Amino acid sequence: MTQDAIQIEGLRKTYQGGKEALKGVDLTVPHGSVFGLLGPNGAGKSTLINILAGLVSKTAGSVTIQGWDQDVNPRQSRAAIGVMPQELNLDPFFTPRGALEVQAGLYGVPKSERRSDEILEMIGLTDKAEAYARTLSGGMRRRLLLGKALVHWPRVLVLDEPTAGVDIELRQMLWENVRKLNRERGMTIILTTHYLEEAEQMCDEIAIINHGEVAARDSTRNLLGQLDAKTMVIQPETAIGSLPEVEGIGVTTRDDGTIAITYRARQTSAEDVLTLLRDNGVRIRDVRTEQADLEDVFLSLTRSA
Ligand code: ADP
Ligand code: MG
Repeated sequence: MTQDAIQIEGLRKTYQGGKEALKGVDLTVPHGSVFGLLGPNGAGKSTLINILAGLVSKTAGSVTIQGWDQDVNPRQSRAAIGVMPQELNLDPFFTPRGALEVQAGLYGVPKSERRSDEILEMIGLTDKAEAYARTLSGGMRRRLLLGKALVHWPRVLVLDEPTAGVDIELRQMLWENVRKLNRERGMTIILTTHYLEEAEQMCDEIAIINHGEVAARDSTRNLLGQLDAKTMVIQPETAIGSLPEVEGIGVTTRDDGTIAITYRARQTSAEDVLTLLRDNGVRIRDVRTEQADLEDVFLSLTRSA
């Protein structure tokens, strides 16, 4: 058994029509970790996940899941992974129990090994087991998608934006389930999300994908440490000379004469910045702060990578 649950090398995908969605991705995901894939819309996250799931064919590169190369052992590699897709693609004429049974059949799980009741219980749909999918609420459908990803108890569970547009209660329930699968069953979890906070709470490691490439990959702690950048913009009373260099504080003069001071909120306080200015005789006419948003962060990480 290899060291990593997922090994991706030189992965490329060019869709028909020429769109290059993945431009040579190398990525490993350690066994038993919760791994976050972050990135702006259109970055290639779903393409990557759908290739892992065997739903989209790759153009080049290799994918190994639990030691099984997709091209050499397609059956084993497929059995090792379960995917909760981004899109709600449920057959409206199935009941939750029916949908789980059909899915188990597709994965060749023998009747004696099926655990539909246990899964229904876990996703909180026991009392809806015999209701038609079309009568379920959006939240219930999402939970059913999670259930479907679990019928063959895969070693790797992938969730593609499971909480996009989902209310807070359901989000918490989903994450509780996912944590439990990770802790109690040692399942490796890969998830994509738009919510930084969610990634921070859930993930051990994060990769940031941008324009079909891995822009950054690090432990959540290290990566989010780079995301707490704040910028203080001051307008001085009079033009100022250069400020002494201080580690962790970046100073740039903008075209409009304001000075942008960027610092890490976890290391440096606004007070530290103001003190630096005062100590250097800068008199402040006006001051405001800017917070880096996710898009800015992606951009700055892409630039530095
Ligand atoms: P993400 O999940 O990060 O938002 P996607 O993997 O869905 O990104 O998309 C990556 C790029 O590939 C986008 O430019 C998207 O428009 C394009 N794309 C996705 N699916 C298809 C498809 N079936 N055919 C052509 N282009 C596609
Ligand atoms: Mg997507």
